[in-house]
Amino acid sequence: MLPVDDFIIIGAGISGILMAKHLSSSGATISLLEAGSYFNRHTYPRKEIDANSQLYWGGGIELNQTANIGFLRPKVVGGGSIVNQALLDRFDHEALSSWKQESNISFFTEEQMKPWYEKAESSVNIQEIPAQYRNANANVFINGFEKLGFKCSPLKRAQSQCQYEKGNDCIECLAGCRLDSKQSTAITALPQALKNGVKLMSQFEVTHFERSGDIYLVHGKSQSGEYKRLRAKKLILASGAIGNSKLLLNSKYANTNKKIGTRFYTHPQFMSLGLYDQEIAAHKGPFQAMKSDEPHFRVNRFKLENVFAPPVGLSMLLPGLGIKHMRAMKKLRHYACVEVAIRDQIPGQIKTTTNGKVQIAKSVSGEDKISYKKGEKVIHEIFKSTGAKEIIDGELSIGLHLMGGLCIGDNASKDIVSPDFSLHDDKNIFCADSSIFPNAPGINPSLTIMALSLMASQSILKQSGHS
Ligand SMILES: Cc1cc2nc3c(=O)[nH]c(=O)nc-3n(C[C@H](O)[C@H](O)[C@H](O)COP(=O)(O)OP(=O)(O)OC[C@H]3O[C@@H](n4cnc5c(N)ncnc54)[C@H](O)[C@@H]3O)c2cc1C
Repeated sequence: MLPVDDFIIIGAGISGILMAKHLSSSGATISLLEAGSYFNRHTYPRKEIDANSQLYWGGGIELNQTANIGFLRPKVVGGGSIVNQALLDRFDHEALSSWKQESNISFFTEEQMKPWYEKAESSVNIQEIPAQYRNANANVFINGFEKLGFKCSPLKRAQSQCQYEKGNDCIECLAGCRLDSKQSTAITALPQALKNGVKLMSQFEVTHFERSGDIYLVHGKSQSGEYKRLRAKKLILASGAIGNSKLLLNSKYANTNKKIGTRFYTHPQFMSLGLYDQEIAAHKGPFQAMKSDEPHFRVNRFKLENVFAPPVGLSMLLPGLGIKHMRAMKKLRHYACVEVAIRDQIPGQIKTTTNGKVQIAKSVSGEDKISYKKGEKVIHEIFKSTGAKEIIDGELSIGLHLMGGLCIGDNASKDIVSPDFSLHDDKNIFCADSSIFPNAPGINPSLTIMALSLMASQSILKQSGHS
C-alpha cells in the first residue's frame, strides 16, 4: 500500500517551497513535487542558451496562440526565484484596493497585509545596487529621466553579497546565482524544509490527480518516463498560473467549474533599444538598478525599468535576417535597453487541448495597447534626449509575470479559490501562488506571493488542527 502524506505540494517554486517550510514545521508529512531539476550554485548552467533550455518550460519560451507574446515560465527547483530579477515590492493602495473590489476580500488592505509583508521581507536580504556600481545602461535611464523631469528610483533586490567590487556580471544571475547571493527560495527556505523532513522529488511532472474517498491520488512521470502515483490527505497547488490551471483542467475539475483558466494576466513587456556611439554594454555589470517612479505612469497603467540585453534575448528582438541581422548584432555593446511593462486590463485564458497540452489565448489590444504606446513614447524621449542615434522597438511582447487562472474571491460562481485559500469546490485543496491573483497589480508579484503563502500556511495549519 502506498504511504499517505498529510500534504502533497505540486510545484517547488516561490510559493511551494515557502509553504513546504512552514507546513512541515508543524510535523506534517509532505512530498514536494517539482517538474524541473534541482541545481546548486556549482551546477547551474553557465551559458544563456543552456539556461533557457534547462530552466524553462517549452525549451525557453512558450507562445500564445497568435505567436506574438512569449511566456517565460520557470521549470526548476526554486521556480521563478532562480531565474527572476529578484525585485521585491509591496503592493500599493491602488493595487490592493482593486483586489479588494474584485475579490470582496477584506484583508487586501495595506494595513492588513503589512505584518505578512514584514514576515516575507525578514526572510530574505534586500538591497539596492549602490550608485557607484550602476552600469552605463542604468545611467542612460537616469539621465533621460532627469532631462525629461520625471522621477525614477532604485529598485530593491533580494540579494546579499553580489561582490560588484570584483567586477561580477549579473547576467549569470538569471541562470541561477553562483554566489548564492540571490535570495531564491532554494537557499532561503528549502534547506529548513528538507531538515523538517520534506521529501523533494525533482524532475517529476504531475500530470493529473483524482480523489479516492478522503485521499488524493497524484499521478506523474519522472524525466526518464517512469509513471508513479502518490497519495495525500490534502493538496497544495503551487505550480504557477499556467501549471495550476493545466492541472485542474486535466484533472477534470473543469467539468464542475468553467472559470478555471480564465482571468489570466501577464504584465506584457516590450523592450526598446537605443543605439549610441559610445559603448553601453547593457549586458555587463549589475543590470537592473532603476525603475520609473512617476505617478502619472501608474495612472496610465505602465512602468519603465532599465533592463539588460543578453545576447540571445537581444537576437530575438532585433529585426531582419541574415546579413542585416548580423550587422545589428555586431553593435551589441552599443545598445541601451529600456522596457515598458503594462498593467493589463484585458485578461487571457489558459486552456488545454484534448491531449492535455496548454494553449494560451492572450493578446495586447485595446486599452492595453494604448498604455504600451504611451510607455514606448517616453522611452523614445529618453533615448532621444540622451543622444541615441537610432531606436529599435522589439516586436515580441514578453509575459513573465504569469498571474491568475484560479482567482481568489468570495464568490463561488466567479472565483476558484476562497478567502481561506481552499478551493470553493474542494476544501482539501489549497493554493496561494501567482494563480490566485484576481487581476494584474502592475507591480512585481513575488513579495506578495511570499506574503500570501505565509498567510495561507498559517490558515491551513489552523484548519487542519496542526499546531
Ligand atoms: C525572467 C523573469 C524575471 C522575473 N523578475 C521578477 C522580479 O524581478 N520580481 C518579481 O516579483 N517577479 C519576477 N518574475 C516573476 C516571478 O518570478 C513569478 O511571478 C513567481 O516566480 C511566481 O511564483 P509561483 O510560486 O506562483 O510559481 P513559480 O515560482 O513559477 O513556481 C512554480 C513551479 O511549479 C513547477 N511546476 C509547474 N507545473 C508542474 C507540474 N505539473 N508538476 C510539477 N511541477 C510543476 C514549475 O516547474 C515551477 O518550478 C520574473 C519572472 C521571470 C521568468
